[in-house]
Amino acid sequence: MSGFSYPILPSGHLLAIEGLEPPHISALLDLAESYALLNRQGKTQRDLLKGRTLINLFFEDSTRTRTSFELAGKRLGADIVNMSVSTSSVNKGETLLDTAATLNAMHTDLLVIRHAQSGAPALLAQKVDAAVINAGDGTHEHPTQALLDALTIRRRKGRLENLIVAICGDVLHSRVARSNIHLLSAMGARVRVVGPPTLMPSECARLGVEVHHDMRAGLDGADVVMMLRLQRERMNSGLVPSPREFFRFYGLDAAKLAHAKPDAIVMHPGPMNRGVEIDSAVADDAARSVIGEQVEMGVAVRMAVLDVLARALRRNA
Ligand code: ASP
Repeated sequence: MSGFSYPILPSGHLLAIEGLEPPHISALLDLAESYALLNRQGKTQRDLLKGRTLINLFFEDSTRTRTSFELAGKRLGADIVNMSVSTSSVNKGETLLDTAATLNAMHTDLLVIRHAQSGAPALLAQKVDAAVINAGDGTHEHPTQALLDALTIRRRKGRLENLIVAICGDVLHSRVARSNIHLLSAMGARVRVVGPPTLMPSECARLGVEVHHDMRAGLDGADVVMMLRLQRERMNSGLVPSPREFFRFYGLDAAKLAHAKPDAIVMHPGPMNRGVEIDSAVADDAARSVIGEQVEMGVAVRMAVLDVLARALRRNA
């Protein structure tokens, strides 16, 4: 990959999309696009992260994100350690800061963290020498998800600017929604959020998105329909009457999708609750659903992020 004339991630970490400038986002997407092509040809560079250690520190469950960071790191030649909390000293009462001090003493270069508390990766970034990547913190942000979503949209639609993107369902608990709102708005897309009033965060107005409580109106003329998982594990009280009722009003089926543009694409970050926020027939419709491509782009985006952060490490070495 060629060099860049400015630092793409000036902080040396990737903690959030909020605060990234459009040229940084575009540069990351361009680099990820080139990794997507190399991945398809089976020609990835294996030495960029040679001698670097990447620790995957997951305090919450994950399938796609953890695996794709592992694959991305391996494709670039890093040594990878997966730490899952069930087998770590966190279960013995160790604080996040003690864990940070331990990882620091081991000279970790790249630290990928997922945590149930919003702000945990930012706290860790202040305490460790490693480059920290937020792999999802509470209801705050999931920056690599938004980047992989943007890359998928850009590949399918050729641009982000002026597209109508409807983000639907449990917006309140979704870090995916927050990161996507920041990224897509910064890149000139027209973002709508669609869902029941009980699952809409109060900051929607501040974020400058259009709010809809009716799926048909929310999907009307949309280019992209992004469904979110109903996150029952983050709900303290009954914010939705029942999964069945939720599906009736907010689940994406062919009839509701018919209100979007005829060539609208359907996205979901996974894991999906089939029959709750999305009908299987829509999720598996190869003509509309880009859910598999999102997973593929996840590896490319994470390679791009590791690449950019490793270059910054090299400068400091
Ligand atoms: N996998 C995504 C996340 O970790 C979406 C979800 O869990 O619903 O935020």
